[in-house]
Amino acid sequence: MGASSAFDVIVVGLGAMGAHAVQQLAARGKRVLGIERSSLINPDGSSHGDSRLIRLGYFEDPSYVPLLHRAYANWRALEAASREELLTITGVLQIGRPEGKIVSGVLASCKMHGLAREVLDREQMARRYPAFQLDEGEVAVLEPQGGFVRPERAILAALRLAGDAGAELHFGERVTAIEPDGQGVTVRAGDTAYRAASVIVAAGSYIAGLVPELAGIAVPIRQVVGWFGSKDPLATALGRMPVFLRDEGEEGSFFGFPHLGGDGVKIGKHAHFREPINPEVPNAPANPADKALLGEFAARRLPLLAEGAVRYSTCRYTLLPGEDFLLDLAPASNRIVIASPCSGHGFKFASVIGEILADLALEQGTDLSIGAFSFEKLMAKAAAA
Ligand SMILES: Cc1cc2nc3c(=O)[nH]c(=O)nc-3n(C[C@H](O)[C@H](O)[C@H](O)COP(=O)(O)OP(=O)(O)OC[C@H]3O[C@@H](n4cnc5c(N)ncnc54)[C@H](O)[C@@H]3O)c2cc1C
Repeated sequence: MGASSAFDVIVVGLGAMGAHAVQQLAARGKRVLGIERSSLINPDGSSHGDSRLIRLGYFEDPSYVPLLHRAYANWRALEAASREELLTITGVLQIGRPEGKIVSGVLASCKMHGLAREVLDREQMARRYPAFQLDEGEVAVLEPQGGFVRPERAILAALRLAGDAGAELHFGERVTAIEPDGQGVTVRAGDTAYRAASVIVAAGSYIAGLVPELAGIAVPIRQVVGWFGSKDPLATALGRMPVFLRDEGEEGSFFGFPHLGGDGVKIGKHAHFREPINPEVPNAPANPADKALLGEFAARRLPLLAEGAVRYSTCRYTLLPGEDFLLDLAPASNRIVIASPCSGHGFKFASVIGEILADLALEQGTDLSIGAFSFEKLMAKAAAA
């Protein structure tokens, strides 16, 4: 690192990915600055709320499983270091037709990696998990390792540990330019300039504003979730009802959580209406079409839920081609590390992505398996799309 660099690494964005990168870097004794344009937890980011699903037998692609093993281990390590409960195991039910993408995908992933799972038919489900309504011929794969992570608590824990280890954290400061050169990087936030040996860009839905190669490729979309009361609180309680994913074929997939306290059973549809948004405009509240989508699903598939949600929340996904991740050095400079917001399924990985980003920033490489998430692969998928 050049003598003029004030920091080893600057991290832009303190959502899920940035917070865990800052924590990893500070734990390694590095001089790190984290800069967040919003408050501690941005309500117009992607990481707010009370729960995010985690599961091991990844139906999307079995190649995610080694990273997930590491993510679980890192969540437990973060819990031990912070003395916070962050990861709760409930089991996960993945429901649909046997030939559908989710059921066939999770079984293939479990088989390849030797993961525990149980296949339940409609009658077994009715006895064991009465909250769920299955059609004739549908099944549920129960993976005992599934559960949920507490996103806001995890981010606060990571940032607290980072601060305790000497990280500097700035909120309400917006990075406006990133300028690499032979000795390091200048990061500008308005009139202020900071120097570092390298920078991690973990800017979530705003990422294309700082990484021009991602303009038109990283697409922020609107996401809405709702909380429903229960006609049978015992059947939908934490401890009785696992988290779930439900394959609705061409309609897409839905996800949900048991009653975690507060407003009831949370339900969302993956990628919702795939409605692109301008990230600079605050999230619009739930409208009648959002409410109808979630309400109709609840009535059809979760008959023990009360009609009409008690509350809704709006958030955003940022989709990449193939709905994959991008974790790589920038084409323009190996002093810039890019962390994509991970296409709506990244939170469960944040504990390992923080480690990967720290490796990339300090060593320009990592032993963890991220070959599938390179710029080159992303651009090939974008060209094919
Ligand atoms: C409703 C919903 C449900 C989800 N469910 C799941 C799930 O069940 N399981 C799962 O694994 N994942 C899930 N996800 C996805 C997961 O939450 C995201 O992948 C993850 O939170 C993305 O984190 P991030 O740090 O990349 O982005 P963000 O949380 O958006 O953080 C980026 C931060 O960068 C800041 N920033 C941007 N530009 C600048 C700038 N110029 N200067 C300074 N700061 C800047 C922003 O203010 C923001 O705080 C869900 C997402 C949503 C919205």
